[in-house]
Amino acid sequence: MRYVKRKNRFFSSSALLFMLVASAVSTLSAGCSGDGGAGGESEKTKTLMGTFARIVAYAWTDEQAAGAIEKAFNEVETVEQMMSEHLPESDVSRINAAKEKVWIQVDPLTSAVLSEVNWAWKTSDGAFDPTIRPLLKMWRGAAKAGRMPTRKELAQTLNKVGWKNIEINAEKSQVRKPRAGTELDLGAIAKGYAIDAAIEALRSSGCSAGLVDIGGDVGCFGSPPGRNEWVIGVQNPFGEGLVGRLNVSGEAICTSGDYRRFVEIKGRKYSHIVDPRTGLPVAGSPSVTVIAPLAVRADALATALSVLGPKEGIKLIESMPEVEAMMIEGPPEEPKVHKSSGFDKYVIELDVLR
Ligand code: AMP
Ligand code: MG
Repeated sequence: MRYVKRKNRFFSSSALLFMLVASAVSTLSAGCSGDGGAGGESEKTKTLMGTFARIVAYAWTDEQAAGAIEKAFNEVETVEQMMSEHLPESDVSRINAAKEKVWIQVDPLTSAVLSEVNWAWKTSDGAFDPTIRPLLKMWRGAAKAGRMPTRKELAQTLNKVGWKNIEINAEKSQVRKPRAGTELDLGAIAKGYAIDAAIEALRSSGCSAGLVDIGGDVGCFGSPPGRNEWVIGVQNPFGEGLVGRLNVSGEAICTSGDYRRFVEIKGRKYSHIVDPRTGLPVAGSPSVTVIAPLAVRADALATALSVLGPKEGIKLIESMPEVEAMMIEGPPEEPKVHKSSGFDKYVIELDVLR
């Protein structure tokens, strides 16, 4: 596996979820819980994937927990090195720079993420599509120039977009672009994949419980001492503080939002999530939270639902066993909450009118 030492700016951080585990962590000495009756604890935060990455682990000893966290961070770093669009030697950068019709050898890990992309693209009927990179560049360029893109620019850029323009040979871990100009941005899924890899590292190191939070997207298993589950806060998309607290364990919870990262043109804000079908930034999905067994899916689905909107989005979630979602729509003074039928089982407290 290639190893790129240099670290750099990476994916966008939606940073919409905050872990509320302080009390749980501080009750450590009160006793043990979880499968292994663990008494050791460790926690560490680093800057990775362009955001904060926080890992908490419980194991038999503090040393075992700390060792597991190091392994988990290694996994996150490896995903970053493969999938960052800002590292010139990453798989994604090599695919983006590749000439048409040339097969590019990628790491099996990148191949695995691309097959998850394929699942998300199919499942969302094309709403999730990481080939939107040229559109994001166009919107950033327009913001810099202080004007809206022209129709011609939009049409020309849209022409480069489309998951069909990426060919994958999964057996050989190879990727090629039938046409020039196609570029990938895995910012909507790579954090989720890294969370799953980090959780797996904690589990396989013998931890009884663990939590991985990358920029507000969270995966967790087991529970901290004295609790049955982890408590995760959902941030208010319209202002400060939280709109709710959820109980989650053994699952991942990811949030996408159209208000945290945006470009501004003539005083108006445009989301960093774009509709691959129209080329336009999405509007009207301030906060989308998805809970799923795997973070890679929760992450991709949260972005897909931002594009699909509440009606289609919740319908899609209802068709998936073991996946739940909540979407908060504006305006801030009169917010609407859309939830899938099983979402309430996670809710400890929810009040969007704050
Ligand atoms: P997230 O915070 O997980 O919703 O990811 C948002 C990021 O995903 C954006 O900053 C873009 O890099 C990328 N992105 C934007 N629109 C899409 C889309 N329709 N499908 C896939 N990725 C997207
Ligand atoms: Mg996402």
